[in-house]
Amino acid sequence: MTQARRVPTAESALRGEVLRLLDRLGVDAGSLDGERVARTPIDGGVTARVPEASPAQVSAAVEAAREAFVRWRLVPAPRRGELVRRFGDALRLAREDLGRLVSIETGKIVSEGRGEVQEMIDICDFATGLSRQLYGLTIASERAGHRMMETWHPLGVTGVISAFNFPVAVWAWNAALALVCGDPVVWKPSEKTPLTALAVQAIFEQVARAAERETGAPTAGLLHVLTGGREPAQALADHPGVPLVSATGSTAMGRSLAPRLAQRFARALLELGGNNGAIVCPSADQELALRAIAFAWMGTAGQRCTTLRRLFVHRDVADGFVRRLARVCASVAVGDPLDPATLVGPLIDRAAFEAMQSALTDAASAGGTGEGGPRTHAQRWPDAYYVRPAVVTMPGQVGPVLRETFAPILYVMRYTDLEEAIAAHNAVAAGLSSSIFTGDQREAERFMAADGSDCGLANVNIGPSGAEIGGAFGGEKDTGGGRESGSDVWKTYMRRATNTINFSGELPLAQGVKFDIER
Ligand code: NAD
Repeated sequence: MTQARRVPTAESALRGEVLRLLDRLGVDAGSLDGERVARTPIDGGVTARVPEASPAQVSAAVEAAREAFVRWRLVPAPRRGELVRRFGDALRLAREDLGRLVSIETGKIVSEGRGEVQEMIDICDFATGLSRQLYGLTIASERAGHRMMETWHPLGVTGVISAFNFPVAVWAWNAALALVCGDPVVWKPSEKTPLTALAVQAIFEQVARAAERETGAPTAGLLHVLTGGREPAQALADHPGVPLVSATGSTAMGRSLAPRLAQRFARALLELGGNNGAIVCPSADQELALRAIAFAWMGTAGQRCTTLRRLFVHRDVADGFVRRLARVCASVAVGDPLDPATLVGPLIDRAAFEAMQSALTDAASAGGTGEGGPRTHAQRWPDAYYVRPAVVTMPGQVGPVLRETFAPILYVMRYTDLEEAIAAHNAVAAGLSSSIFTGDQREAERFMAADGSDCGLANVNIGPSGAEIGGAFGGEKDTGGGRESGSDVWKTYMRRATNTINFSGELPLAQGVKFDIER
């Protein structure tokens, strides 16, 4: 008989610090009450309680955001950008506190927690500049005395559903662009990371109130946060008042949400799972490759959508390279993410640990051999799940290698021919991020060509994780096809109108059609 799983209810040793951080960031203590618990993966204990948003509360938030939209869409875009600029400045002041809260709530090491807030600041800077660049086209008309143009208008309420592993940065990628494009935001954060969302809402509210007072811009109702699990996310996806839903999470989540959105012809921006690969060629700078691969495999305890999970190493250099990976695996500092010496913090929860152990068992059954994987620090933190990262040499791309396991497992395969390696690299369902390590320009170009990597992100001599603001971020196939953050992705948050203006005094019809009525 299986034993019922023990759900720890003990208070976290970090609860006091969490409450002080929330207070400093402006969160009303009265909002910290409800049926859901918030935890920290650092010791597995409870830090606070939050409400589960009801369907009625989801509707009320969307209606309030729709009212805000009616006013906000008429504010000139550069003035909307001014609000986002102010928000970026407030995040600069809050960086240490919010970054620490990110580390406590997700288990990220301190530099990554801080880095996540920096990423929010970077997208605010990007969006502020963008607010003066929402350009349309002018188009040559076939008719004399006519002009055609394209104009971009605010779309409406943007729904954001976010994952635990980037609890605030991915929201900011969406929200900063949505706000300059004229769209209010209703946000359903991960049930595993509600507190950072409440903190961001508090910071935003303070900025919005000050901006309204000082500039007169109608900023009330531009951001609503709904804590809870799947149900409020589904209610948001089903609401006819939300023309765009940006959802980040597992491919299973995307498969469930996409038909709901398609049913009502809403726009879906899907950022789903990855199973990212890299190729190490014989000419690669091995020192550089080792450092890049270590971060991409073990950083964030393997819990990034862009984490490196599959490594193809050329046969001539494989043995030595795998030995070096095994040494890194054995020596990397795993432990308290708030200790600046730590590089690998805990997994988010017990389910993540069990998924990792099950993938390692499957890998061994499929002929894999390797290092790492066991639980650590269990005596000190019995309700938390720390693991030594694992590196497993596989006989081929089989079994668990074909799926995303959200944990620090690196599967290594040997290859002989680059064409064969690229084909194997592309032979998985996800298509998010990829890398090649090479000193040969032809190999690098080959990897980025039309018949090279089939991912949304294809890098050379840098790992697949750690994207910056500016480029369009996202992936193909089971990753969902969405793009966020940089380039021209702002167009997703706006509606396009094509305008034809006749200044000729005649009425020529397009394509030479004649339609002369009796006058
Ligand atoms: P998850 O799918 O469990 O949850 C993500 C969000 O979706 C949460 O807010 C959750 O409440 C909601 N959700 C889950 N199932 C749902 C359903 N059936 N209907 C409606 N809402 C639902 O993901 P997670 O464990 O929080 O995050 C890890 C996953 O997210 C990984 O697969 C990772 O690769 C992916 N991810 C992708 C990106 C990207 O940009 N492509 C970024 C971060 C994370």
